[in-house]
Amino acid sequence: MPPGTALDEKLRAEIGKQGQPQLARDPVNQALIRQWCDAMEDQNPAYADATFASNSVHGQIVAPPAMLSVWSRPGNALRPVGPDDPVRTVLVELAAAGYTSVVATSLAHEYVRYLRLGDVLTATQWVHDVSAEKRTALGAGRFVTTATEYRAQTGDLVGRARLDLLAFKAGRGHSTASAGESASKGARPPRPRPGISRDTQFFWDGVRAGELRIQRCARCGELHHPPMVRCPQCGSHELGYQVSSGKGVVYSFVEPCHPRVAAFDYPYVVGLVELEEGTRLITNLVHIDPDAVAIGMPVELVFGQPDPELTLPLFRPRRPARRETTLVFDEVNAGDELPPCPIPITARLIVAGALASRDYDGVHHDRDAANRSGLPDILMNIFTTGGLCARYVSDWAGPEALLRGLTIRLGTPNHPHDTMTIAGAVCSKGSEGETNLIDIRLRGYNRRGDHASGSIVVELPTTARIR
Ligand code: ZN
Repeated sequence: MPPGTALDEKLRAEIGKQGQPQLARDPVNQALIRQWCDAMEDQNPAYADATFASNSVHGQIVAPPAMLSVWSRPGNALRPVGPDDPVRTVLVELAAAGYTSVVATSLAHEYVRYLRLGDVLTATQWVHDVSAEKRTALGAGRFVTTATEYRAQTGDLVGRARLDLLAFKAGRGHSTASAGESASKGARPPRPRPGISRDTQFFWDGVRAGELRIQRCARCGELHHPPMVRCPQCGSHELGYQVSSGKGVVYSFVEPCHPRVAAFDYPYVVGLVELEEGTRLITNLVHIDPDAVAIGMPVELVFGQPDPELTLPLFRPRRPARRETTLVFDEVNAGDELPPCPIPITARLIVAGALASRDYDGVHHDRDAANRSGLPDILMNIFTTGGLCARYVSDWAGPEALLRGLTIRLGTPNHPHDTMTIAGAVCSKGSEGETNLIDIRLRGYNRRGDHASGSIVVELPTTARIR
């Protein structure tokens, strides 16, 4: 921190000072683990299935590692931290100087060991640094870097965290995202309407009803798309339909780039999707970086609404299935890509994630509070982003892969009515003695840009476990 004003002197005095150790209100417990797993849709049986867990590498139920920071959090101001707490002092001083809003911008976790039911954590926190004023998208702000150590009841170190906070002057940013965005959207032409005839009416009625209907010959059972006036197989005019499962694979795709059509959202990818039922249809591929689209990629139906009067059947990458048997170190190579996973960002997910991480800040559950902070809507907290990234990696690597570290930097916020797609790749692998580690680089992007970037270090077994 540069030398300067009286404020700087006050802030400087807090750097490196150790705060009062915070004892967790409750031991690590199954109820809060379940609440977290519900929010993150994490079904790793090591977190909740006693039979699986007792036969696992852990020998018992463990908590999701990304919950590390949750256990000792103070709660809904029921137990305020002491007035001499250095992090609190710094934030109070910054608020008095006009930096009244606070958001987390990056999180680094180191997991020394997994937490077990009954562990009682104590967190000790420091202010590591306070930056000079910076211009940010949210407004003029100062970054506060905090460091925390977590110890179990036995005194052993179980993990460390580094959390960067941005304290900013609300509502003075150079970008206030979607408020202005929707105003400018009003000016653009609507997306072209489909031509609907008597033969295709059932298809568009289906779209409005939330179904993807494929024409089916009532006489011979043949499926056709696009719909026809008579069956090309048997010539029958008796035509009905079958509702598709909405699952398919990318058969082919193209990305028209030029000239741009004002009515379309870009990037714009036209896909030919082969449905499970065997027919193909032309659609748009959404919530996927065009560079990541591949022939054969599993996709699923999602209904898009470019404007209130138009609903279209679109396709996004299918959420990858959770691996039941943990990957072995030799099965993984640097450069391996993890399949992309779209995560719908709903108010429910944002609120559930905030509560599961004991984060009662209004910007995560109250749109009015978010608006007062200069934000267009509530936004996902960093612990939820971390939890979703951890779930993504552990679903890919298997239930007994051991997460050793997580680093997340946040960019554009996750607001409701969006989708974040998480993608990842193995960027390196190596062994330290008996320990096999892989480093997975992650990116989570939404329609406004990159929400999160970072990495997760995972320890994998040398050989498969025999059960
Ligand atoms: Zn037929």
